[in-house]
Amino acid sequence: MVPMSSRPGRRGRVHGVPKLQTQTASVPLHSPGSQPSPRSYRIDDGLIARDLHTAGEAVCGQCKAVYHGKRWSYPPRPPARLKQLPRVECPGCRLEREGKVGGIVRLSGEFLPVHEVNILSQIRRIAQRERLRNPMARLLKLERNGAGLSVFTTHRTLAVLLGKGLHHANRGSLKIHWTDHDPLRVEWSRT
Ligand SMILES: [Zn+2]
Repeated sequence: MVPMSSRPGRRGRVHGVPKLQTQTASVPLHSPGSQPSPRSYRIDDGLIARDLHTAGEAVCGQCKAVYHGKRWSYPPRPPARLKQLPRVECPGCRLEREGKVGGIVRLSGEFLPVHEVNILSQIRRIAQRERLRNPMARLLKLERNGAGLSVFTTHRTLAVLLGKGLHHANRGSLKIHWTDHDPLRVEWSRT
């Protein structure tokens, strides 16, 4: 299992997802220091709800997402009073901490090992772009199974975007197994 979180203090703490039985190996998916420094704010749900309800604004103590206008975002210009806002755990960080899997993308084919570095950077770029749009969409971890890779995401939409993005950039074949329940499974392959 390879945690995809860039918060060093939380590495290896993804829960709730059974390990694949196949061999796994380390695959770097985040560049260290590309995310805000880790800080731990363990606040219970009641406090989060109360803070959000009463304050109307809050900031995530971990990823610095800002709650404003009833939605979470990463504003290009953080509010000046950022330091005064209640610090809570945003839904995205919570999903990540709990290891809640919304989507799984399986990558396979002979093309993959040859172009793995490039493909991993495509995955990072797609995930980063989507996270700015939806702070709940996170990469959870990456597992190597045989010659293939599996990417676990918190959000099904991110899994679909990764599959479509890889297909668009590298061709190959794409299968999206649409279901009503999580996790949504996506397969991308190129020989
Ligand atoms: Zn957060």
